[in-house]
Amino acid sequence: MIIQKTEEQELLLENLQELMSRVCTEDYIRTCEKNHEQPHKLIEALVENGFYMLGLPEEYGGTPLDHLTYFMCVEEVHKIMPPFGWPRALSLNEMLRLGTEEQRKIVADLVKQGNMAFSFAITEPQAGSDDNAITTTATRKNGKVYINGQKTFITGANISPYMLVATKDPNSPDPRKSVSFWFVPADAPGVTIQTLPKIGWLMLPTCEVFLDNVEIEEKDIVGVEGEGFLQLMKCFEMERLTNCAVALGSAQAAFEDAARYANQRVQFGVPIGSFQLIQEKLTYMAIKIENMRNAFYKCAWEKDQGISIQLSSALAKLYCVQSGFEVADDAMQIMGGIGYTEDCRISRIWRDVRVLRMTDGTDQVMIHIAGRALLKKYR
Ligand SMILES: Cc1cc2nc3c(=O)[nH]c(=O)nc-3n(C[C@H](O)[C@H](O)[C@H](O)COP(=O)(O)OP(=O)(O)OC[C@H]3O[C@@H](n4cnc5c(N)ncnc54)[C@H](O)[C@@H]3O)c2cc1C
Repeated sequence: MIIQKTEEQELLLENLQELMSRVCTEDYIRTCEKNHEQPHKLIEALVENGFYMLGLPEEYGGTPLDHLTYFMCVEEVHKIMPPFGWPRALSLNEMLRLGTEEQRKIVADLVKQGNMAFSFAITEPQAGSDDNAITTTATRKNGKVYINGQKTFITGANISPYMLVATKDPNSPDPRKSVSFWFVPADAPGVTIQTLPKIGWLMLPTCEVFLDNVEIEEKDIVGVEGEGFLQLMKCFEMERLTNCAVALGSAQAAFEDAARYANQRVQFGVPIGSFQLIQEKLTYMAIKIENMRNAFYKCAWEKDQGISIQLSSALAKLYCVQSGFEVADDAMQIMGGIGYTEDCRISRIWRDVRVLRMTDGTDQVMIHIAGRALLKKYR
């Protein structure tokens, strides 16, 4: 399948590329990472230039886009930047689809100003890949709802005004219909948030969240009670494509750095790029990048055509995040010791791409989803 970028797409991507390279110097990225803070200058520029609301409906101040173009933009941003809290359009779209008018307005207003409006609080200490094992509850008393439980690995919980909290009704007869989502203010009494120090994604905090009798209202439910996972399934598929876009953008950057270095670095009197062992690495890296792009663009295109991407998004995510890491790893090898230093962006790409094999479903979970779907086809 050949996907030729249209003139409009080329223009949009050129503008985005120009903005990214103007604002995001390596020094700036390093400073944000060192201070463990979001790149506010970049976010402001994305807001000002209309990129921050890409993919969101017009009535909320967004710029609607087809999925393919949207993901091309995500890829472009991540050729330069590590994850920093954008994009959220896909999960936001689901929120705008499922939420009440009041919730939609709150979210859209926050995003328009460059905020991460809410964090996604699903994972718990005993419920990672097995998200059905969550035990956080929502209990009713005197016309109010009380949330109790503990969440972990919640991205941006301490920088987002709201949390989308998954709870489970332990008495539900159908476990597939026992999960609900609630829109919870992050500063509500009873919410405690602690950051979890981690080795990568340094601009984006990951947090533990303790919910102790957090009082909310009936109106704070998001979507239909008990149907939380079914409602958000489509959102998870989209998040897998976001992982593909980040992996591809990062792999492309790693490849370019390694190829340039291979031309410049002289050992044994010649550039290391003249050694066939180095050329072999670059060749396979290029093949992987091409395959990543094809798998992921095809999947985004299928989404635009209304074709189910349940299987293809799992296959694409598995392939892209594994290959993205392999490309980053080979790039580091080509750069030798310098690639392992903090001054070299390969080291950042290497650690930041690695975690994509865990986020939004691990490699093994992707195999689980894809394996079942593949077998079903031939039953
Ligand atoms: C940086 C970061 C950001 C995150 N952000 C969020 C967030 O915003 N919101 C949120 O809710 N969660 C978030 N998570 C959590 C993430 O979704 C989980 O880490 C992920 O689902 C895996 O769960 P786990 O870490 O508990 O691993 P586990 O599920 O305990 O898995 C451990 C290992 O066992 C394997 N395994 C598990 N089950 C099977 C199986 N059936 N067959 C074969 N192998 C299996 C896994 O693949 C993995 O290799 C984030 C995680 C990280 C690291």
